[in-house]
Amino acid sequence: MSQSQIPVAVLGATGSVGQRFISLLDNHPWFRVAALAASDRSVGQPYGQVCRWVLNDPMPEFAREMVVVPAMPECIDAKIVFSALHNEFAKDLEPQFAQAGFAVCSNASSYRRVEDVPLLLPEVNADHIQLVRSQREQRGWNGCILTNPNCTSTGLTIALKALDDAFGVKKVFAVSLQALSGAGYPGIPSLDIIDNVIPNINGEEDKVEWEPRKMLGKLRETLEPPSSAAGTPPRAAIELADIKFSAHTNRVAVIDGHTVCASVELARPADPETAEAVLRDYRAPASAGELPSSPRPVIDVRSEADRPQPRLDRLTGKGMTTVVGRFRRDPILDLKFVVLSHNTIRGAAGGSIYNAELLVNEGLL
Ligand code: NAP
Repeated sequence: MSQSQIPVAVLGATGSVGQRFISLLDNHPWFRVAALAASDRSVGQPYGQVCRWVLNDPMPEFAREMVVVPAMPECIDAKIVFSALHNEFAKDLEPQFAQAGFAVCSNASSYRRVEDVPLLLPEVNADHIQLVRSQREQRGWNGCILTNPNCTSTGLTIALKALDDAFGVKKVFAVSLQALSGAGYPGIPSLDIIDNVIPNINGEEDKVEWEPRKMLGKLRETLEPPSSAAGTPPRAAIELADIKFSAHTNRVAVIDGHTVCASVELARPADPETAEAVLRDYRAPASAGELPSSPRPVIDVRSEADRPQPRLDRLTGKGMTTVVGRFRRDPILDLKFVVLSHNTIRGAAGGSIYNAELLVNEGLL
């Protein structure tokens, strides 16, 4: 599919996720960056001067001289805005952009649980993007809000989707080892994290225990309220997956790449070799398989006893592939394994860009 270049903007462009957006949007085949927005600290100054660039790849040339603008709809001329704002700002600003006709692809958690807002991993639940139609009808806006999940739920949910389709997943026990870039920049003080593990990330366990249930849930059309069925168009909603989760989330001294050690109970127990083969063969739905940011492959299965590892495996498939390994029988549940996903690429900026590509491909922009 060929697209003329669609103008896009990044909100929170100077932060940890914002920088990833700029790096991934450099030479994007469909999107052209038209505006970079951040806080009053940065507004009015060239991006190259105000941004403390922390990625290994150099800052793209296109961004250096762009003057940072306020994160306000009237200051931005674009069709899509990628939001890398913290929740407290996203909550007010994202609906203002949707109301003004922008498609908002958000990393913030403010709207992930809202019934008419898709929480998307295109290789898992591309069909949930249809919620955008109900969102527009109900709210009367031309824009929309799409969200991607919390970065720890991302890789875990992709692995669970393959297992759920094949065997049915009933229970998940998960322990995360999360990278420092997940806490933004400058993030956690070095003296707190070097030689250490921090066994708490505020709000994270709750997200990992809830968000996969929406993404693994079924898109249903409902007529509500029941009494007004005549003439009322069907409203799409997600029926949450009936899976029980327990999560422990930990911050570790890794720069990028979240690792999750998971144990699962299956409806139809499978041996580790069969489960491994199911993950290796997993493919994205047709509408999400051939987009510019589609992970290639969706899942990479490592057979070595000591993989995946963040430093060695996080850039598999340009950081969009979910890497799994260490499939074993679990003596309490059925099966245990390890999942690795790049938190600022697949788990944040790359995921939002993939969502925007799906929106365009579905003719919903
Ligand atoms: P961050 O590094 O702290 O960056 C925050 C950005 O927001 C900066 O560009 C900052 O601009 C801007 N900002 C602050 N106040 C603002 C305001 N009032 N108006 C407009 N812009 C404002 O944060 P981050 O780690 O990139 O996280 C961004 C969002 O993505 C959060 O909601 C986070 O939960 C989510 N997320 C992060 C990850 C990850 O791995 N890091 C993964 C998934 C989701 P200035 O520099 O001008 O202050």
